[in-house]
Amino acid sequence: MDRLRTFGIVAHIDAGKTTLTERILFDTGAQSWVGSVDDGTAAMDFMPAERTRGISIASAASRVAWGEHILQVVDTPGHVDFVAEVERCLRVIDGVVVVVDAVRGVESQTRAVWQQTVAAGLPKLVFVNKLDRPGADYKAVFREVGEELDCTAVELVVPLLDESGHFSGLGDALTGSVQWFEGQPEAELVPKLQADLRAAHERLVEVAADHDDEVMAAVVAGDAVAPERLRAALRHAFLMGGLVPVLAGAALYNRGVDWLLDAVVAFFPGVVDLPARGIWSVRGAGDGASPFCGLVFKVQHFEQVWNYVRVVRGRVVAGTEVVRGQRQQGGPAVVPELWSMRADRHDVVASAGPGEIVVIPGDLGWRTGDTVCDPATPVVLSFAKFPAPVLAVTFEPERAEQVGSVYAAVRDLAIDDPTLRVAREYDRIVVRGMGELHLEIVADMARSRAGVAFRVSKPWVDRRETLMRPATGSAEAHAMIAGVEQVARCELAVEPRPGGEPATLIVEAVGPMATVAAVGLRARLLTGSRVGALHGVQVRLVAVGGDTHAEALVEQAAAKALEDAISRSGLVELEPWVSFEVLAPAASSAAVLADLGSRGGEVGNLAAGRMGARLTGRAPLARMLGYVTRLRSITKGLGQVVIRPAGFAPSK
Ligand code: GDP
Ligand code: MG
Repeated sequence: MDRLRTFGIVAHIDAGKTTLTERILFDTGAQSWVGSVDDGTAAMDFMPAERTRGISIASAASRVAWGEHILQVVDTPGHVDFVAEVERCLRVIDGVVVVVDAVRGVESQTRAVWQQTVAAGLPKLVFVNKLDRPGADYKAVFREVGEELDCTAVELVVPLLDESGHFSGLGDALTGSVQWFEGQPEAELVPKLQADLRAAHERLVEVAADHDDEVMAAVVAGDAVAPERLRAALRHAFLMGGLVPVLAGAALYNRGVDWLLDAVVAFFPGVVDLPARGIWSVRGAGDGASPFCGLVFKVQHFEQVWNYVRVVRGRVVAGTEVVRGQRQQGGPAVVPELWSMRADRHDVVASAGPGEIVVIPGDLGWRTGDTVCDPATPVVLSFAKFPAPVLAVTFEPERAEQVGSVYAAVRDLAIDDPTLRVAREYDRIVVRGMGELHLEIVADMARSRAGVAFRVSKPWVDRRETLMRPATGSAEAHAMIAGVEQVARCELAVEPRPGGEPATLIVEAVGPMATVAAVGLRARLLTGSRVGALHGVQVRLVAVGGDTHAEALVEQAAAKALEDAISRSGLVELEPWVSFEVLAPAASSAAVLADLGSRGGEVGNLAAGRMGARLTGRAPLARMLGYVTRLRSITKGLGQVVIRPAGFAPSK
C-alpha cells in the first residue's frame, strides 16, 4: 500500500499534459509505442471527440510500474468547463503534477485548477515543460510559480544550458547528480553550472530547516545534511502543503520524465500517508482487513459500461456481492470481473485493496459519486457536490424517429457527468450543462454515439427567484359547485434562508385538504412566480380551511396565498453569474476592458503579467455567451479566458 502513488496531471491546454502522460506510459513499459497528440494516436485521449479537437475531456486511469512502485495516473480533463470532471478527479487522486509551458508560463487554467487543488488539500509537483523551445525561461517561470500561485516553490530539478543557451542537461538539486543529453559541455562552463546547482541545493536545505529542527540544528552546526535526511524533511513539509518542488524537462523529447517519476515516488503520499479527509475520512479507510467500500468516480459508456472504482478500505473480490451505499434498492450486484487498467488495455485481477483503482465492467446501475460496499456494512463516502447546470440548449434532429436515439445517447453521457441533465419534451431534447464548450462537446459526442445529425439551438440560461424578507400571505378562493357557494382558505408564511438551496415546504396545517394544498404548493415552488423556481426560501403552510372538498379550489387558494406572501416579501429575479479571468496582450487590454463593461462585467482586478494584462471579475453568464470568439477577434487570437460558474445573483 505504501508502494502505491495515485496522481493526476493538470495543465493549461497545450502545455503538454497528454504528451507527458504518453511518455510515462511508454517509459514504464505499459505501452510499447509513444502516442502522439499531433497524429491522434495518444492512448489516454481515446474518445473520438477528443482526438479531433486535440483536447482531453474524459479522464481515464492507468496503472504502471516504476521501480518498486505502482503508479496510478488519473487523466484529468484539459478544460475547466468540465467542472465535474476536474472535481471528481481531485477527489480520487492523492497528488497533482502541474505541467507549465516554459515559454508561456503560468496560464489562466493552471491558476484556476491550482485553486481547486488547494481547496482539495492536494500536494503538488510542478513540471516546467518544453524547455527545448526557443524562448523557454525556466527562471522566470519558476518565479511566476511562487508569486502567482502563491506558494513556496523550490527548485528540485534544474535545467542545464550549454554555452549557446540550449537546454542540454538536468541537475538534481537534492543529490547533486547531473544528466547530459548529448555528451558533456565544454569544460569552462562546468564551474558555473555547479554553482547554480549548489545554490539550488542550499535553498532546499534552507527550506527543509524551516520545517525540521534536526535539519536546522545541522545547518547551525555547519554539518552537511545527507540527501535522504533532506528528502524526508522536505517530503514531510510537502505533505503538509508547505512547499512545491519544481522540476524541469521536455516531455516530447523524453527529457526529465524519469526524474519526475522518481519525485512522484519520493514525495507523493502512499495510502498510509493520507490524511483523514474526503473519502479517506470513513472509519477504517486504508485498512485492507475492514469491510470493503469504494468510490465509483467514473462510469463510462462504450459498447460496455465501465465503472471506475477506487477502493477505500477492505478488498473488493471478483464474484462477490456488493451494494450501493446510497440507495440500497436495486439490491446487491455481483462483481463480474475486476480489471486493472493499463492505458487502453486491461489485466483481469482477482481482487483489489485500499488505494487501488479498478474497473468493474457491466451495467450495474451505478452512477458517478456512488459508494459501493460490503452488503453487511453499508456506508456512504463523502464526495464532491456538483453545481446544478445553468445553461440550456435543445438538440433537434431532422426526423421525429431520431429523437429517441439522440436522447438515449445524451442520457448515457449524463450518467457519467453529474453536471449534465437531459429531458425529453415531445420532439425536443433539452440539454443542460455548465458552459458553451461543455454543451458543444456533449453535442459532438451525442452525434457520434447516435450516428444522427441534429441542430443545436442557441443557448439560454436558467433563471431563479428568491425573496427579500419574511412575510405572511393568506387568500380565499370561491366557486359555485352544484349550486352551492364553497370556499377554501389558506394561510402561509415565507422566510428567506441562506445558501440558495431550492425552496422547502413545512406543512403545519393538518387534514386531507392540507395535503392537497401542500402538493399544489410544491409544484408552484418549482415553477416559481415569474421566471423560475424559488430558491433560498422556506415556506410554512400554516392553515388550510373552508368548507369545500374540491381539490382544485384548495390548490387555487394555496397558490393565491403564496402570491400574496411573495408580493409582501418582495421578489428578486436571479440569473447565473460567472467569474472570468482574461489574459490579453497589453495592446488590446483597453478594448477587452471596454467589451467586458458592455457585457455588465464587474472587473475586480487588473494586473500586468509576463504575457500581458490579466483581468479578473464577474459577469452574468447570459451576457458572456460567445465571449471566447469575441475575445479572439479583439486580441487577434492571443487572448485567453477561463469562465467558471459563480452561482446565482440578481439580474443586472
Ligand atoms: P495538452 O493539451 O496539455 O494535453 O498538450 P499536448 O500534450 O496535447 O501538447 C500540445 C503540443 O505541445 C503538442 O503539439 C505537443 O507535441 C507539444 N509538446 C508537448 N511537449 C513538448 C515539449 O517538451 N517540447 C516541445 N517543443 N513541444 C512539446
Ligand atoms: Mg491533452
